[in-house]
Amino acid sequence: MPLDEAAKVVVQELAGEDAVQVVEVLSDNHEITDEQIVARTGIKLNNVRKLLYTLFEHNLVFYRRVRDRTAGWFKYYWSLNRTNLDILVKMKKRAVLQKLKSRLDYEKSSMFFHCPNHPEIRLTFEEAMEVNFRCPQCDAQLQHYDNSKIIMVLEHKVHQLQKELGES
Ligand SMILES: [Zn+2]
Repeated sequence: MPLDEAAKVVVQELAGEDAVQVVEVLSDNHEITDEQIVARTGIKLNNVRKLLYTLFEHNLVFYRRVRDRTAGWFKYYWSLNRTNLDILVKMKKRAVLQKLKSRLDYEKSSMFFHCPNHPEIRLTFEEAMEVNFRCPQCDAQLQHYDNSKIIMVLEHKVHQLQKELGES
């Protein structure tokens, strides 16, 4: 099963870019050894082991240990802990959703003004009042800034995330 983008972001934040490759290989296989991961990713064995350990610390992988009778040592078969990965992805999406919602509230709660000569300057109604609706840099008359497009984009993202989280 391929990893979705949100899962990749979560893994990357926890364990780095190379860990995403390892998790992708794990995601495609029910069980896999570290050497097979090396063969599929090209990441050095030592690093694969470090990455697996980091992922293990975050409860994102688990292993089955089998004694190799002839060699006498243990072989480790690694699997992805999808349940925990899904939980982390949901937590991440909820956090993003909260941020988007408060940004949306902010956009909806105020009127905004901007300078025709300095499009990067955007003031709230209160801030614009304090400068008598004049640009602090060039003194031009501030104009009403239409943020309906920003609101539309934010609303779309909020709905999208709510749908993904099963909250709408
Ligand atoms: Zn200006």
